Amino acid sequence: MLARILEELKVSKTQLIAVSKTKPEDQILAAYHQGVRNFGENRVQEVVNKQAALPQDIQWHFIGHLQSKKVKSIAPFIALIHSIDSAKILVEVNKQAARQERIIDVLFQFKIAEEESKYGFDLATATQLLQSSQYSDLKHVRVVGVMGMATFTSDQDQVRTEFKTLHRIFRELKTRFFAEADHFKEVSMGMSGDYQIAIEEGSTMVRIGSLIFGHR
Ligand SMILES: *Cc1c(COP(=O)(O)O)cnc(C)c1O
Repeated sequence: MLARILEELKVSKTQLIAVSKTKPEDQILAAYHQGVRNFGENRVQEVVNKQAALPQDIQWHFIGHLQSKKVKSIAPFIALIHSIDSAKILVEVNKQAARQERIIDVLFQFKIAEEESKYGFDLATATQLLQSSQYSDLKHVRVVGVMGMATFTSDQDQVRTEFKTLHRIFRELKTRFFAEADHFKEVSMGMSGDYQIAIEEGSTMVRIGSLIFGHR
C-alpha cells in the first residue's frame, strides 16, 4: 500500500507525512526503509521517545493539539508544527525556539469542518494576529502555510467544499501577508479517507496514517 501511495504522490508532487501515532518503532522503520522521512505524531511524549530512538534524519511533524507547557520538549527537534491554533501557542513556540537558537516552521490550523471538536483559527482571528505587533515581534517562528481537517463524512462534496475553503484561506493570506515570502507555500490537507480529493484541491502535504500502518 505504501509503495502505491508513494507512486501516486510522486505524480502529483505532494509530500507524504506518514502519521505514525500509536504505532511501534519497527513499523516506522519499515516505512523509513521504503524511503519515507517525514512522520507525524500527535502526542508530545510519544514523539520525544520516538525521536530519540529512531534515525536522526527523520523529520518529525507535530499534528495534534499542542499545550503550551509541552512545547519545550519538542522545540529542540520538531521539523514542522501543523497545529498552531492561537496566539498564545505561537508565542510559546517562539519562546522555546529562541532558547534553542532555532527558527521553527509552523502552519496555522483552520477550522473548516462542521464538527465542534476540531480545533483551529477562523480567518478573522488569524488575520488579526498576522497584523499585530505581537506577531511581528516573533523572530523564531516562520509561518509556512495552513492546515485543516475536513469533516469525517462520506459526503465527498462536503469534503471537497471544505478543502476548497482551506485553499481559499491560503490564497487570501498569501496575497495579504506573504506575497513576497516564498516559504509560505504549504497546504496540509488530506488523510487516509480523503487525500485524493485534497490533492485535487491543491494540497501540498497529505497526512496519511491508517492506510499505511493499519487501523489504530
Ligand atoms: C490521525 C491524524 C491523521 C491521519 O489519519 P488517518 O485517517 O489514519 O490517515 C491526519 N491528521 C491528523 C491531524 C491526525 O490526527
